Amino acid sequence: MAIARFKALELAQSRQTVPVKVPTEKVTDFYGSNTFNDEVMRSLLSPEAYLKITNAIQDGKKIDREAADEVAAAMKSWALSKGATHYTHWFQPLTGTTAEKHDAFFDVTHTGKAIEKFKGSALVQQEPDASSFPNGGIRSTFEARGYTAWDPSSPAFIMENTAGTATLCIPSVFVSYTGEALDYKTPLLKSIELIDKAATKVMNEYFSRDVSKVTVTLGAEQEYFLVDEALYNARPDLMMAGRTVFGHSPAKGQQLEDHYFGSIPSRINAFMVDFELEALKLGMPVRTRHNEVAPAQFEVAPTFEEVNLACDHNALLMDLMNKVAAKHKLRVLFHEKPFAGINGSGKHNNWSLGTDTGINLLGPSTKPKENLRFLTFFVNTIKAVHDHADLLRASIATSGNEHRLGANEAPPAIISIFIGTEMSRVLNDLENLSDLNDIKLEKGDNVYLRLGINKIPALLLDNTDRNRTSPFAFTGNKFEFRAVGSSANSASPMTILNTIMANQLIKFREEVDVILEKGIKKELAIVEVLKKYVKETKRILFEGNGYSDEWVEEAASRGLSNLKTTPEALAKYIEPSAIELFTKYSIFSETEMHARFEIELENYMKKVQIESRVMGDLAINHVVSTSLKYQTQLVDNVRGQKEIGIDPQYYAPTVEMIKKISQYTSKITTLVDEMTEARKEANNLEDAYERAKMYSDKIKNYFEEIRYCVDKLELIVDDDEWPLPKYRELLLIR
Ligand code: ADP
Ligand code: MG
Repeated sequence: MAIARFKALELAQSRQTVPVKVPTEKVTDFYGSNTFNDEVMRSLLSPEAYLKITNAIQDGKKIDREAADEVAAAMKSWALSKGATHYTHWFQPLTGTTAEKHDAFFDVTHTGKAIEKFKGSALVQQEPDASSFPNGGIRSTFEARGYTAWDPSSPAFIMENTAGTATLCIPSVFVSYTGEALDYKTPLLKSIELIDKAATKVMNEYFSRDVSKVTVTLGAEQEYFLVDEALYNARPDLMMAGRTVFGHSPAKGQQLEDHYFGSIPSRINAFMVDFELEALKLGMPVRTRHNEVAPAQFEVAPTFEEVNLACDHNALLMDLMNKVAAKHKLRVLFHEKPFAGINGSGKHNNWSLGTDTGINLLGPSTKPKENLRFLTFFVNTIKAVHDHADLLRASIATSGNEHRLGANEAPPAIISIFIGTEMSRVLNDLENLSDLNDIKLEKGDNVYLRLGINKIPALLLDNTDRNRTSPFAFTGNKFEFRAVGSSANSASPMTILNTIMANQLIKFREEVDVILEKGIKKELAIVEVLKKYVKETKRILFEGNGYSDEWVEEAASRGLSNLKTTPEALAKYIEPSAIELFTKYSIFSETEMHARFEIELENYMKKVQIESRVMGDLAINHVVSTSLKYQTQLVDNVRGQKEIGIDPQYYAPTVEMIKKISQYTSKITTLVDEMTEARKEANNLEDAYERAKMYSDKIKNYFEEIRYCVDKLELIVDDDEWPLPKYRELLLIR
């Protein structure tokens, strides 16, 4: 009997719901209680130090040594009062997870006396021994130093450990000794500053002098799967690659759609309540929880926040979910495609721009003047995405996401924009406006009326249509970048989106200014440029079914890119136009861009390599061996039937099964051998791009063929002997 599998099944089926201690206070009483937030700072800091730190948070001003010491002292006493024994700079290296290196507050003086120590210098900067984080050749090994530097704009927080102690975590950037970014946060912060300046200028010059800051807002809806821990541990592929490389689809999958928005099972609900409580204490505004389309798939969504904070919070939330899941004997799968034949997971990045005067720049309004402002930001977003769709595609290119994008599943690898019927009509009207020169304004004329932009539907927000197959959709008052992978660090796509939008807004202003210089009225000049953009970007707008084959064909005829594989998407990062864009605004230097390209290629290659190895191991040592044993039983059986003189027609089907087992096992063995050889060949390639391409174009091609044979064997071999938990067990037991 397949002992490991059945032990796991028994364990999984005997699980009880783990009780959660729910606080008696209201959420508002404990929300953010584990963060060094504004309220705490106000109560612990001198007015001078408080002012300095709020300036640093709001305007990125530097903090002097004295203030840093004071903040550190306050942070320390606050952290100690919360039970923290250690502190760490908490950062997001390009490995895709978060990183920490804990140092104790405790220290001894030269006289051997024990003290609690945490100086301003330790708060501001730390030098982790970080030589093994990916750096794309930036940090040569003899100078393997990178340092982390405090990001005051994201509050420090307390992370409770299972041992009952806690750690003060200080959100930080991670840069090389020579100053190059080695993380996701550094370029994000730069892009935030850039877009703030660009959007504020547009506002000041054309719409409102009052605005002094524009903030990017992000609400990241997070999809994930949950699997019982015992079953997870009985699947080496889940443990090592984060996804199942084999598994026949169960009789009941998602076809009944009974899971979506169904009631949440009790054990799962306890897990959700538990991690949400912790998240709330950490100041994360988690609000929505529900089942997703696939069985065992769920979603959590917070209220949107400033994008830097939102990205930190999403990374922290994933970390937290992993920790809390362990308590409930569950495992969270953040992989984009853990199960074949069942929906994958995304992280929908809801993105917008808001002013310090409280305006959502992507929110339509009923007032004509405000609608011109809305149209400006709306059309400029479309233009930015149209002109740099390949960069957006590159920003979400990973081995996991490759299974969703372009694999006939939501959304395709083609970047297109869905705007809904109402907005399509608005843009159509805009495009068909008479020529600027034909609009003769009489004194007292209503310019908006003449331009036809007085009639933008006010009801937009309530009745935006939804299109679940679009990678980038306007959803009433924000754009939703739906193609982001569930395991991604949102900072990557957000950095790109912010940068291309900022660049677009700068270009927009230049174009409008040229017209203004001719003495033309501002509103007319703006409309003229927007009208031109609408004409130029029509091909990227698509309202139909993004999963359909027709769309792939049509997109090709429209000249839109369809970058199916990760290496070809990543290559867009280092095209001259991309380098020019990034260096122009100092978001990335050319060295950083090349480093990032190589790191991402390397991440990709390693992940596919791991999958390939796990597949080879499972196929040969679990599946083929088990199948052959079972086949021997069948052979004995047939021999016995023959011996006692049973009519051959009765054991003919069994003989067929024996043949099939031979056929599939031999095919698997041959393919695994070939795949191993191909891996060797790939590993010998010097060039990172060529190597990644070979993994993508050649090695990955074996996966489906091997899987086909394995999944067929799953249907033949005695269930008692099958070594790997089956899909129905992974997906339906909870
Ligand atoms: P749905 O997309 O399911 O209709 P909502 O519209 O409520 O759900 O929001 C989805 C996500 O979009 C939430 O995280 C929400 O906070 C976020 N969101 C709403 N408004 C904005 C905005 N102006 N900027 C960024 N995100 C936003
Ligand atoms: Mg949504």
